[in-house]
Amino acid sequence: MSQTATVDLVRARADFPILATEANGHPLVYLDNAATSQKPQAVLDVLDHFWKTENANVHRGVHYLSQLATRDFDRARETVRLFLNASSSREVILTKGCTEGINLVAGCLAGSPAYPGAPKIGEGDEILLSTMEHHSNIVPWQILAQRVGATVRPIPITDEGEIDLEAYRSMLKSGRVKMVGIVHVSNSLGTVNPIKEMVALAHEVGALTLIDGAQAGPHRLIDVQDIDADFYTLSCHKIYAPTGVGILYGKRSLLDALPPYHGGGDMIHTVSFEKTTYAALPAKYEAGTPNIAGMIGLGAAIDYLISLGGASPLSTDAERRQALGRAFDAVGEREHLLMAAATDRLLEIPGLRITGTVPGKAGIVSFTLASAHPHDIGTILDQSGIAIRAGHHCCMPLMRRLGVSATARASFAFYNTFEEVDFLAQGVERVTELFS
Ligand code: PMP
Repeated sequence: MSQTATVDLVRARADFPILATEANGHPLVYLDNAATSQKPQAVLDVLDHFWKTENANVHRGVHYLSQLATRDFDRARETVRLFLNASSSREVILTKGCTEGINLVAGCLAGSPAYPGAPKIGEGDEILLSTMEHHSNIVPWQILAQRVGATVRPIPITDEGEIDLEAYRSMLKSGRVKMVGIVHVSNSLGTVNPIKEMVALAHEVGALTLIDGAQAGPHRLIDVQDIDADFYTLSCHKIYAPTGVGILYGKRSLLDALPPYHGGGDMIHTVSFEKTTYAALPAKYEAGTPNIAGMIGLGAAIDYLISLGGASPLSTDAERRQALGRAFDAVGEREHLLMAAATDRLLEIPGLRITGTVPGKAGIVSFTLASAHPHDIGTILDQSGIAIRAGHHCCMPLMRRLGVSATARASFAFYNTFEEVDFLAQGVERVTELFS
């Protein structure tokens, strides 16, 4: 029996109520999963239960509701720890998104005179980012570079959409590289980058590393200890959880050493006008009332994935992690088949070009048509209820490198079907007929 045989992803589609709805009078065909994923009933139920029976602020109240909310909030953090295989839940920082996590790291690396021993990026230092980064993993570093006099240098990519590792190796030799920021899975191309190797190379020259895992989290089993990156960020609304939730993983020694980011309630130990001291991790980086429902919803989303793999919240940690592995094996396999089928069908259409053709890529198909602009493709497909994304996908430097201003992008989740792949291809054929 194959390891994935017990994971029934075809049946799991029924767990997502929105997928049974219509758009513009047609059955919804949702192929914009890289932008955000749909939510299973299990997550909706947990949120409903929270708002109806548990809503209170966490970590502050002695009363009944506050204790319930705190218990479930803390439990969810522990579930995220398991999801990432972090060694401690103190290394799991709740943010409002992947974007905030990267800003947090870049902001803290500006340094503070009160933290003379902490790692920092200063004048003349270099930050290496790949050309395929999302703006979220470019702009925070540019802001930091402007503040401190550092330089951001793009690592080149090949025409197929692969990082040029030879160029990377030689850029690391400058002796000034302090940070390497790399996207795990490209949101535009689907390329899965060799992050473990890139992290090891960066560490050889003493540079810190941040991996943008926004597009990896929904599709593959992540093990931050194995990757060994110093920081790893997640965008949890793409992992079947509510919007407004992100996770920053950071090595404990670094998060302990760095200065605080936002100041306010919850992140302090004592406050006086003479001297304020800060709370231990993870509270040090979670100023103010957190997104309590969002975090609990994230825990439910991970529990849902674990349930697909055949374990429950009552199973042992080892069983839950194994179940997560089984679920992601099945998810990865199905999304790969959907992507491959879409690629084959779309390439039959005259004038269609696919950007991002690296073997082993994730379930993302970006394409252009000779006859129609990506926005026209998106608008016409929408009339048939097919949701795709058109634009620069927050990757303007990548678009420039590829010589296009925009692409149309279909991105798959495990709940998509091969029938939907056919609808997509038929829709794109209609666009070419309209524009011929
Ligand atoms: N990085 C990548 C690769 C992404 O795809 C996204 C979301 N499109 C982000 C970062 C930003 O995530 P968020 O908007 O959830 O902060």
